[in-house]
Amino acid sequence: MQNIQHLFFDLDHTLWDFEKNSEETLRQLFIKYNIGNGRVLVEDFLLAYKKVNNELWHLYNVNKVTKEDIRLKRFPSAYTIVGLSPSDCPEGIGDEYLEICPHKPHLIEGSLELLEYLKGKYRMHILSNGFDKTQAIKLQTTGLDKYFDVIVTSESCGYKKPSKEIFEFALKQAEASIENSIMIGDNPLTDIQGAKDYGLKTIYYGKDESIGDYNVQNLLDIKQIL
Ligand SMILES: [Mg+2]
Repeated sequence: MQNIQHLFFDLDHTLWDFEKNSEETLRQLFIKYNIGNGRVLVEDFLLAYKKVNNELWHLYNVNKVTKEDIRLKRFPSAYTIVGLSPSDCPEGIGDEYLEICPHKPHLIEGSLELLEYLKGKYRMHILSNGFDKTQAIKLQTTGLDKYFDVIVTSESCGYKKPSKEIFEFALKQAEASIENSIMIGDNPLTDIQGAKDYGLKTIYYGKDESIGDYNVQNLLDIKQIL
C-alpha cells in the first residue's frame, strides 16, 4: 500500500491463537486437579472460563478491573458458573495457568506465511493490551519475535488500547507517523475504533464486523492489501 511503512499488529487472537492455546492449558489443569471430581464436563468448564475471561478482559480494557482482578477472579468465577464452590478452587491455579499458557505454540492460520511475505517490505511492531512478560514468552516460544521491531504492551506504556496515548507512544517508539502506519487487529473496540480515533488506517481481522478501512476474514487476505 502506498506510503505505508509501519505495521502495528495486535497479538492475542490476531497472530497468537489464544483460543487454542488457552483451551489446551485449561484441559491440562482440568485433568491435573480433577476439577469437579467427575461431576463437571470439561466442555462446560471451558465455556464457563471463556465467558468469565472475556467479561473480565472487557472490563480491563475499559479500566474497570485490574490485571490482578483478572488473575485472581477468573478461576473461582468459572467454578461458580459450573456449580462448584469457589472455595474448592486450587490455590495458585490462576498463576499456574499464566505459567503454562504463554508457552503454547499455536498461531492463527496464515500468521507465519503472512509475516514472511511482509518481512522486508515493512517495519512491523506489536501493540498489545497484554502483559509484558507473558507477551514476550509468547513471541519467543512461537518464533514470532524475529519479525518485530518495537513491542508495546499496555503494561509497558501505562495506557491501554483504545486510549490514544498508547497509539501515540507506540508510534513514537517506532519513529513512525500517523500517515505511514496501519493498525491490524481483531478487536473492534480496542484495535480498530481506538486506532481510527487516533487517525490511523486500520485492517480488521475477524468475522463479526466490517469496521476497519479494510476487513479480512483470513490473515492471508492481507497480502492483497499490503
Ligand atoms: Mg486481540
